[in-house]
Amino acid sequence: MASASAPRVSYIWSQELQDVSDDLPSNIGRSSMVHGLIRALDLLERESSSSSQSDDGPAFNRASIVAPDEHLGTEDCMLKYHDKDYIDALLRPRSSPPAYNPTAPRGDSDSDSAPAAKRARTKGPGLQEYRDMDRHNLSHDNPPFPTLPRYASLVAASTSTACRLLIRNEADFVVCWDGGRHHARKHEAGGFCYVNDLVLALLLLSKEGKIALKPEEQKPRVKSRPPRILYLDMDLHYSDGVSSAFHSTKEYPDPMPTKNPPKPPNVMTFSLHHLAPGFYPPSTPWADLTNPWLPTPFSLAIPLKAYTSSQTYKTIWEGCVEPVVKEWDPDFIVLQMGADGLPGDRVGQFGNWSVEGEGGMKWCIDRVKKWGKKTCITGGGGYNHPNTARAWASITASLLNRPTNAETPIPHHDHFEEYAHSFTMEVPAGHMEDQNNPKYIARACEDFDYIASRIQDIVASSLR
Ligand SMILES: [Zn+2]
Repeated sequence: MASASAPRVSYIWSQELQDVSDDLPSNIGRSSMVHGLIRALDLLERESSSSSQSDDGPAFNRASIVAPDEHLGTEDCMLKYHDKDYIDALLRPRSSPPAYNPTAPRGDSDSDSAPAAKRARTKGPGLQEYRDMDRHNLSHDNPPFPTLPRYASLVAASTSTACRLLIRNEADFVVCWDGGRHHARKHEAGGFCYVNDLVLALLLLSKEGKIALKPEEQKPRVKSRPPRILYLDMDLHYSDGVSSAFHSTKEYPDPMPTKNPPKPPNVMTFSLHHLAPGFYPPSTPWADLTNPWLPTPFSLAIPLKAYTSSQTYKTIWEGCVEPVVKEWDPDFIVLQMGADGLPGDRVGQFGNWSVEGEGGMKWCIDRVKKWGKKTCITGGGGYNHPNTARAWASITASLLNRPTNAETPIPHHDHFEEYAHSFTMEVPAGHMEDQNNPKYIARACEDFDYIASRIQDIVASSLR
């Protein structure tokens, strides 16, 4: 039986979630690879048993499988963030991208006297559908695909299901590798992301995750307080969709006034990302290094140059991330662990991170475990599918206190041959030189030290 100190890990999965995630045009077949490897490593509860206890082998801790709750992926749920006309376009049944037909019947409000060609240009349903798609960026990187409506619903449901398990204290960590679509916007798709499962889950946490006050903290008629939530994004790309959704212009004086101090927001966003001219997503002022004197220190960002090494990630984690986490003292964390910052990623291209070693992905997860916070861990980017599966399987194993290492053999399973030639968990190290200037990283640490002191002031004011 799993030891008492082993964290309770839940794992969001269903066969249909995997099938429709496999259809995502940017990552065809990735979901099967990720879940297949994790299952082959014997990290998931066995379907024949309702507990994580093994009948036939050593007592290993395993993750409990939880299917996405369909009630959290309805159109009404998606409308808690997204615009109605975008969701209508997203959920429209389609078997393939619509073919443009210039002679298609016109709409009924058109004038009969208008020339046929003009009517077709303005009212033909084929063209109208193209216009809707273009208006919502459902083209180029984000083409519609036949299972898009089910995909959108199930991905929306999966991360919200994960967060509801945390709210109900049914798990310490919940893993949701098919979630993490951080570029989707309120009214449009972006960067291979159609529905922003993260924003929806963070809104759910904000609404349902109220924290009961201890008797000595209670005031008349006030028995709970809003949760403090950290969204931390480790994907190579800036978390534009999530950061913009929670960006606020509310001002927090420095120092905070003792009388009627403004209440902190529920959600702090923090993105570490590669930033360069022309690199997706288009830059905004909020993607730049956070100015510590900004009126609102809750949309945090550290842009990085090409080939950020694990050593640099370690310095930033210890000097920027942890001071802020300590002072914000979040009740819930949503951690986006996109794997496109690893070397050899065909889309990321500028990654030089690692799975193993100090400052690597597993090292970060071990630090998160030490924080002792209820945490939802999602996927995101990751376009070298074998390496992404290795990374996410390694993280899942670490959460269960069953760490793998680079030499761990890939077990025989359906996707075994895709792990040639090493057939191990090793993600080959990058050989590019880290372009980040140590002086810039040191300055970021100084700035974030100051930001952490402001957050301490804001949190203390809110609890007085
Ligand atoms: Zn990415």
